[in-house]
Amino acid sequence: MYMVSLDSSKCEGCGECVAPCPVSLMEMVDGKAEVTGDPAECMGCETCVEICPNDCFTVQEL
Ligand code: SF4
Ligand code: SF4
Repeated sequence: MYMVSLDSSKCEGCGECVAPCPVSLMEMVDGKAEVTGDPAECMGCETCVEICPNDCFTVQEL
């Protein structure tokens, strides 16, 4: 099981992380990405980690 967290304070609002997530956990809210889905539904693919230019994402294996 995996859990994703997102540090919105580092987000520059590029939006690049939203569409590639296979379980659609992120949305843009007021110009920044937020995890609006259940963070525990993260599949641990680390696509968001690789895409984000600002290292906003942390994926933990629980
Ligand atoms: S690691 Fe993969 S499944 Fe998890 S939030 Fe990032 S893109 Fe989505
Ligand atoms: S890829 Fe990173 S900087 Fe871009 S919207 Fe997503 S969290 Fe923000």
